[in-house]
Amino acid sequence: MTKYVFVTGGVLSGLGKGITTASIGLLLKGMGNSVTAVKIDPYVNVDAGTMNPYMHGEVFVTEDGGETDLDLGHYERFLDVDLSKDHNMTTGKVYLRVITKERRGEYLGQTVQIIPHVTDEIKAEIAEIAKRTSADVVLVEIGGTVGDIEGLPFLEAARQMRLEEGPANVVFVHVVLVPRLSTTGELKTKPAQHSFQELRRIGIQPDIIVARSEKPIGPEARRKLALFGNVRIDEIVNSYDVDPVYDVPRVLMEQGLDRVLARKLGLEYRSPDLGEWLEFVERYRSASKTVKIAMVGKYTSLRDSYLSIIEALKHAGAHLGLRPELVWVESTDVELGKLDVESVADSADGAVILPGFGARGVGGKIEAIRALRERGKPVLGICFGLQLMLVEFARSVLGLDKANTTEVDPNTPHPVVDLLEEQKLLEVKGGSMRLGALPIRIVRGTLAHRIYGTDLVYERHRHRYHVNPRYLDKFEASGYRVSGASPEGYVEIMELVGHRFYYGTQAHPEFKSRPLRPSPVFVEFLRSLARS
Ligand code: GLN
Repeated sequence: MTKYVFVTGGVLSGLGKGITTASIGLLLKGMGNSVTAVKIDPYVNVDAGTMNPYMHGEVFVTEDGGETDLDLGHYERFLDVDLSKDHNMTTGKVYLRVITKERRGEYLGQTVQIIPHVTDEIKAEIAEIAKRTSADVVLVEIGGTVGDIEGLPFLEAARQMRLEEGPANVVFVHVVLVPRLSTTGELKTKPAQHSFQELRRIGIQPDIIVARSEKPIGPEARRKLALFGNVRIDEIVNSYDVDPVYDVPRVLMEQGLDRVLARKLGLEYRSPDLGEWLEFVERYRSASKTVKIAMVGKYTSLRDSYLSIIEALKHAGAHLGLRPELVWVESTDVELGKLDVESVADSADGAVILPGFGARGVGGKIEAIRALRERGKPVLGICFGLQLMLVEFARSVLGLDKANTTEVDPNTPHPVVDLLEEQKLLEVKGGSMRLGALPIRIVRGTLAHRIYGTDLVYERHRHRYHVNPRYLDKFEASGYRVSGASPEGYVEIMELVGHRFYYGTQAHPEFKSRPLRPSPVFVEFLRSLARS
């Protein structure tokens, strides 16, 4: 019988429910269970693909090309599994299915309602994932905050599942914030108390309460949370801020969450084996040599926009005993003259040119790329990063003054980066890019081949534009080479010959990086920085 753990949140969003869910998963996996995870995002978008990263953070791309919520990235990294796009459920997706069925006449004669039709659809989709993955435990994180109108059908579906599957098979974990007043230093449980009431009003009694706080909380706050939350004191677990977040499973385990989970779910208790995981955390913490990396992008004020890249740098850093120090270079500030690229390039050991879309901030990125290239600094360009490295090179070295990507200037005389043929006829935006894990043939004798150590790799993609093959001769004549291409001939990787590390990839290697299996691209990039 499949076990389900629903994770809800109270007080406010952005509490780290995703990390909590992933950590619970790691503990259950460490006890010998197979675990999978589902994220529910109650917004009406069908997927995260069309949302601005400023508002929602990074779009995480799955193997099968899903454009999903960044929490799926946490699940993949903690659980070391590949998830598919249906592990991210949204109101838009659920309604699309219900309405499609209604139009097909599948509910003929009935009034189609939120309860039971929408809630049935939600339950059916969760059960479907349980069946397909045959996981022992399915974690279901419900995004947003308890009390949000758009979250109600999902909470209602969860309540029904507890009744139908039985209390030993469905457990509710509620994550709340316990803030500390800066004036008196007092911990406040009142907001949490209100969220317990809100949950009960919906018909859900939490089994376990995770209290998020900045610093560890004392017994008094625990006692109050237990009393108002209507749980035993050992069912209160405190998740205080730690760095790295990969240490959260240990924090939760030290307070006995593993035992409580096993008891509540009726699973045989075995002390979770976190050996290698804890060693990774230790290596991350003890890395002493710092490498300074300029992160060149346009959404630098919301770090979540580049979450997987930041994590991939951490994984590679722990692997090599290096501590990446990130210096954010906001390309629009460069354009406004607020940031001097020459001094940025002087002081950084190297740079990542971040992925992105659209014309804003591109001038600043190109300036930064030029300053870095001229100094021979290692540069890793990801997707838009690769494309702009080529635009800069075409202008500065190939003498093609107005070279550009047609994404930025549709009328450029030198479209060194242009729309993919398959994109030219499309009208629908959502889910229409070149997406997901796709094969890349690696050319022998190149830096790319040294990185991957093999002739064929799969990396995840998310793009509409590509390197225009018409200009390859010119690039190759000036020291650039193609070191990876797709079987149909799209350029995938380009590198500058003779340079320490000047490497651009059309794909996003960050999405496949895991703490214990860092992406080789990031490892080699960091290694080149340490050699400076
Ligand atoms: N905007 C570029 C494209 O669509 C790059 C996308 C990206 O960086 N993910 O090709």
